[in-house]
Amino acid sequence: MRSYTAFLDLLLPLRCAGCSRPSGLLCGRCGALLDSAPTRGSPGPASPVLPPVWSVTAYAGPVRKMITAYKDDGRTPLVDPLGRALAQALKAATADMPTDGPFLVVPVPSARRAVRRRGHDHMRRMAEAAVRELRRAGLPATGLAALRQCRRVRDQAALSRPARAANLAGALETHPAADVAGRTALLADDVLTSGHTLAEATRALEEAGADVPAAATVAVTLRRPGS
Ligand SMILES: [Zn+2]
Repeated sequence: MRSYTAFLDLLLPLRCAGCSRPSGLLCGRCGALLDSAPTRGSPGPASPVLPPVWSVTAYAGPVRKMITAYKDDGRTPLVDPLGRALAQALKAATADMPTDGPFLVVPVPSARRAVRRRGHDHMRRMAEAAVRELRRAGLPATGLAALRQCRRVRDQAALSRPARAANLAGALETHPAADVAGRTALLADDVLTSGHTLAEATRALEEAGADVPAAATVAVTLRRPGS
């Protein structure tokens, strides 16, 4: 399906990944959704270790379609606009850092089988694009894919809120080669939903000695009662 979509892209005029109008990768209106000013929020009592999370836009409508098109349908050139949006959220998140010194940008890892299925490590590439953008703006950011899953987890989307926390507890660890001790790290993810994934990523980084003052995502899920 992925290669078929990519093949169609070669033959047909590109359709906007947000609204399907024939207007290139993203039309002006959908692209503008990624240009909103980042806001600082919290998804609720996910975990006491969850730092503030900065997000650019709501995970709904065209933005939801864009992220799915990038992540699952092989529209990999979307890494540039999504990476720029993530960079804006990360830039806002630096306000929560204790100093303006060097910092790491650590993407939330995907399961290896998900990377194989998609054909790319979507967050790693998006974080790299965001770091390039931050460095162009003069910020001392370094991308480091420091985290990995150390056991199998179930798809979070299918689980209730309490089950999500249990599903993820202890699921992440730092790579033995990634030296994060004493360093400041901002976490990066595509979507903030319950906050459990970011909380687990924060725990793993802090256990390895990093300071995690904030996290950044492109989009944030609008909270529904009981979700
Ligand atoms: Zn559009």
